[in-house]
Amino acid sequence: MSKLPLVSDEVAAIIPPVPGKPIEEVTREYGVSEPIKLASNENPIGPSPAVAVAVNEALSSLNHYPDGGQYNLKRALSQKTGVRPENIVLGNGSNELISLLIQAFVLPNTHVLTSEGTFIAYQLGAQANSRAIVTTPLDEMGGYDLDAMAEKVTPLTRMVFIANPNNPTGSLLSGKQIQRFIEKIDQKFEDEGPILVLDEAYFEYVDPALSPNSLAILAARPRTVILRTFSKAYGLAGLRCGYGLMSDGLSHHINQVRTPFNVNTLAQVAAIAALSDQTSLRRTCKFNRHNREWLRNELLRRGCLIRPSHANFLLVDFGQDAQPIYQQLLERGVITRPMGVYGMPNSLRISVGLPSELNRLLSDLDQILGLNDSDDSVIPFKRANRRA
Ligand SMILES: *Cc1c(COP(=O)(O)O)cnc(C)c1O
Repeated sequence: MSKLPLVSDEVAAIIPPVPGKPIEEVTREYGVSEPIKLASNENPIGPSPAVAVAVNEALSSLNHYPDGGQYNLKRALSQKTGVRPENIVLGNGSNELISLLIQAFVLPNTHVLTSEGTFIAYQLGAQANSRAIVTTPLDEMGGYDLDAMAEKVTPLTRMVFIANPNNPTGSLLSGKQIQRFIEKIDQKFEDEGPILVLDEAYFEYVDPALSPNSLAILAARPRTVILRTFSKAYGLAGLRCGYGLMSDGLSHHINQVRTPFNVNTLAQVAAIAALSDQTSLRRTCKFNRHNREWLRNELLRRGCLIRPSHANFLLVDFGQDAQPIYQQLLERGVITRPMGVYGMPNSLRISVGLPSELNRLLSDLDQILGLNDSDDSVIPFKRANRRA
């Protein structure tokens, strides 16, 4: 009789993530007629109108398999980024690419390194591939602590994930900070250092003056991967399409492990259409910035602690257990994301929705927290605890 366990310890330890509740589920469970979802950092105004046209046209060819070589979309991305098509790999969302990267490159007995308080897919990807993950705490400003991370790098550190801007904190690392980190870690290796994955899911939202030049980092350091997605600013979360930019040596191996039809036909044509409409993208980003700053000020006025965000969401610290606030918002049809699993029980992550949605959120919050909406000098209900 075999004594082999059914699954690895890593797989056994996986806690399936709870995604933002779908709108239909909230309607079913709470009988709210028009719930709003501020839980998954989706684009509230949706994709470019060009997407509907392209998807409609492609409907007649759905009997055929998708283009497994993903020729047209890679060419369009190549034109946009200046990276050659051979160095672009598409995924079923960048989530799939995270898993494929670990699958291909994180060899047995090596490990993944990232931060606490970051995108949960890095941990899940490591666990699903039966690999270890090492993390360091966030720094006192709520961002990645790159010095602490660099200290954890050993010859067995195979892959480092950095979300920039970070989800759920919204914090941004500068090009200088990333460059310094690279110098520190690479000097620990005789040949090439670990594969550094810069996850730029919120790249389009960042002020270009503050955005690190990750393409230059990639050009100078072949063991670098840039991940971007059509799920956020491009408004295509439902179609699942993300992309990775990487050197030949890396893209070759991802193409070995990915399934040929990982990105479906509609996702490919929709992404091309979305890319072609940079006017819509700019409108989305401008609208987001304006609404985000407005919401941040409104919540600060109510005594919440909120660090500046460079993305399309805010991490809101209520200075008290946020789970009951989450639950009461849910019962009123406002879906946010509790942060207990990220070790931040006092916080909710709130996506920047439409102004009408944000107004509804605020008035529901005022009721839940017992704040008087008409009182201009809103009394802070409880000063948010500043984390040491
Ligand atoms: C949303 C998000 C992604 C994108 O996931 P997709 O699979 O492309 O939808 C990737 N990384 C981070 C940090 C994110 O927040």
